[in-house]
Amino acid sequence: MAMLARHSQDAWSQFLTYIEERCSSAEYENWLAPIKVLDASTEEITLEVPNIFVREYLLDNYRRDLVAFLPTRVTGEPAIIFKVADPKKPNVTIETLDPIVEPVDNSSSQYECLLNPNYLFGNFIEGPSNQFVKSAAFGVAARPGRSYNPLFIHGGVGLGKTHLLHAIGHEVREKQKKLRVQCITTEGFINDLVDNLRNKSVDKMKRFYRSLDVLLVDDIQFLQSRKNFEDELCNTFEALINQNKQIVITSDKPPGQLSLSERMIARMEWGLVAHIGVPDLETRVAILQHKADQKGLRIPQKVAFFIAEHIYHNVRQLEGALNRLNAYSRLMGIDVTEEMAEKTLGELLQHIPQKRITVENIMKSVATIYDVRVSDLRGTSRTKEIAFPRQVAMYLAKEMINDSLMKLSSSFGGKTHSTLLHAWKKIAEQLEKDELLRRQVQMARRNLEM
Ligand code: ADP
Ligand code: MG
Repeated sequence: MAMLARHSQDAWSQFLTYIEERCSSAEYENWLAPIKVLDASTEEITLEVPNIFVREYLLDNYRRDLVAFLPTRVTGEPAIIFKVADPKKPNVTIETLDPIVEPVDNSSSQYECLLNPNYLFGNFIEGPSNQFVKSAAFGVAARPGRSYNPLFIHGGVGLGKTHLLHAIGHEVREKQKKLRVQCITTEGFINDLVDNLRNKSVDKMKRFYRSLDVLLVDDIQFLQSRKNFEDELCNTFEALINQNKQIVITSDKPPGQLSLSERMIARMEWGLVAHIGVPDLETRVAILQHKADQKGLRIPQKVAFFIAEHIYHNVRQLEGALNRLNAYSRLMGIDVTEEMAEKTLGELLQHIPQKRITVENIMKSVATIYDVRVSDLRGTSRTKEIAFPRQVAMYLAKEMINDSLMKLSSSFGGKTHSTLLHAWKKIAEQLEKDELLRRQVQMARRNLEM
C-alpha cells in the first residue's frame, strides 16, 4: 500500500517537473508550488489547494497533462479530490451586515468612473513582469467573489494597474450581465461620501455600495491620512467580502507600506496581493508594436527596439513617444525610421537618466588619466596640474549627465554653476584644436562607457 501511495505521489512530482518547464516561474511559484499532496493511491490523489481558484486553474489549463500523469476515473477525468486549505483569517472584527430587506437602490453613484474602452484584457500585453497579475485579474473576472478576495494590485506609475482594473470591469459586464459592477477612484469614493454626508443620505449610499457584486477601487493610496473615510470604506469592504462579493483594489504600494489602519491593511492582505513590475525590453517592444498597430502606424522592428531601449520606466511614456512619432509621421508624410525617431524623440530620450555615469565615476576616470587624486578634483587647488583635469571632469559631467548645472557643480566641492559652465566652454573650445586633449577626453569617456 505504501508502495502504491508513493507511486502516485511520484506521479504528482513528475507532473510538476513537466509543467515547470512549460510555464513561467511566476506562474509556477504562485499557482503550482503551493499545492500539497494530502493523500495518494493508485486510484486517486487528494490535493490541498489554497483556494478554489487554483483548482479551476489546474483543470482549465492542465487537464490533459493531469490525465497523462495521474490516475483517472472511468469517465476519463483525472481522479483528483481537492480540499481547500483553511484560509488564515486575520483577527479582525467583522461587521455583519443586516440582511437587505429594503429594495436595493439602483441609482448609481455620480462618481462612478467610466471604463476606458481600450482597457481590455485583449489589449494588455503580457510579459514576465505582469503575467501573474494578469492571470489573477482574469481569474477574478471569470469568477467574481469566488477566488481571491480582495485582489490587490500594486506597482509603479503607468504600468497598467488601471488598465487591468477596467479590464476586469469590462469582462464581468460582458460575460455576466446580471452582476452589478462599480468602478470608482478612491477620490471619487471620498467625494461621494462627502456629498452624502452633506445630504444626510449616507444610509442610501451604504445600501448602494453594499448591493454591488463587484467593486473596483483605483488608487487606494489616496486614502492615506483620511481616517474617517478609511473606516467607511473598510466597513464597505468587509460587508461585501462577507457576502462573497468581489473587490479589486489598486495602489502604488503594497498594503503594508501604506499608512492606513492595521485593520484596513489586514483586510487588504487577506486575499491576493499581486505586484505589477516594469516590463522587460521584449515586452516593451511588443507593447509598442501593438499600440502602433492600433493607430495604423508602421514601425520597423529595429526602431521599436531603439525606442524601447531608451524608454524603460513605464508604459505611459512609451505611449507618449508613439503618439509623437505618429503625429510627426502623419504631418510630414514620412515613414518612421531610426533617424526620424531619434530626431523626433530626442528630448524625450534625453530625459532618461544615464545609468551608471555619475560625477564620481567621471572624476575617477579623469583622475587616472591625469594621475591626480579624486579628492584633488573635488578640492580647491588652483595649480594647473589639478585645475585643468578638474575642468575636463566638469566638461564631461555637463556632457554626459542630464542634471542641472547647479546639482552638477555642487558635486565638485561646492563650485558655482558659472564655474562649471566656464570650464565646459573652455574645454569645448580647446577640443577644437588640441589633438592630445581630444584623445584624453575620448579615453575618459571610453572608461566610463565600459
Ligand atoms: P497605472 O494605473 O498603473 O498608472 P495605466 O493602467 O493607466 O497605469 O497604464 C498606462 C498606459 O499604459 C495605459 O494606456 C495602458 O493601456 C498602457 N499599458 C500599461 N501596461 C500595458 C500592457 N502590459 N499592455 C498594453 N498596454 C499597457
Ligand atoms: Mg492608474
